[in-house]
Amino acid sequence: LEGMIEVKATETQQDIRNDFYCDNLTNSQRLQEERCCVCMDTPTKPKQLRKCGHIFCKECIEQCFNYKPACPICGTIYGKVTGDQPLGTMSIRTNGSRLQGFNDSSGTIILTYFFNDGLQGEEHPNPRTVYKGIRLSGYLPNNKKGRLIAKLLNVAFSRRLVFTIGWSRTTGHDGVTWNAIHHKTSMEGGPARFGYPDPTYLDSVLEELKAKGVTEESADDPEEYKEYSREIRY
Ligand SMILES: [Zn+2]
Ligand SMILES: [Zn+2]
Repeated sequence: LEGMIEVKATETQQDIRNDFYCDNLTNSQRLQEERCCVCMDTPTKPKQLRKCGHIFCKECIEQCFNYKPACPICGTIYGKVTGDQPLGTMSIRTNGSRLQGFNDSSGTIILTYFFNDGLQGEEHPNPRTVYKGIRLSGYLPNNKKGRLIAKLLNVAFSRRLVFTIGWSRTTGHDGVTWNAIHHKTSMEGGPARFGYPDPTYLDSVLEELKAKGVTEESADDPEEYKEYSREIRY
């Protein structure tokens, strides 16, 4: 981790790929008893989802995935969920000061996000009106878990999931706001001040990332991750 890198969020399309499905349905007995929960009928051209095992008609599940790539029964996410984060940049750098509670770290990872003011798009609450930009930093320990989280936040950022546009009570304007992936915006002060020490934070942000479909798997996918891995080696 050296110097500063910038990553621009790109617009990504939800893609439906065959590897979301099991290659073949082995348990035909089970299939006869199974109902497709979308059409409530016996599945035609049945497809079984690879991770959770739920079975649907080919057409039913493809329609669901067009709307959101998640299993309609259990919510397991397949492929990419993308958000409506406006155009902005994320930069990552490190310094040598150690956050409280992480004796195994070699310092701090600093994530800085920057958004200019802009015009809301069709996907936002008030299209064609102005939103306020923002500049914010988040802090992570520079240890194994902290580096993984930085990597996953970077994937989340490029999928437009870290921020959204919402109304702010503080400014009375629509502006760029956090989107349910919590950051430590202070190096100290404890949870009350959005800082450290906080022994539960790293695990809880990993859960928040997972809830948006950003898992360790997605960070290891070179297709997903080429921009970042080129700059930073783990
Ligand atoms: Zn069906
Ligand atoms: Zn499922």
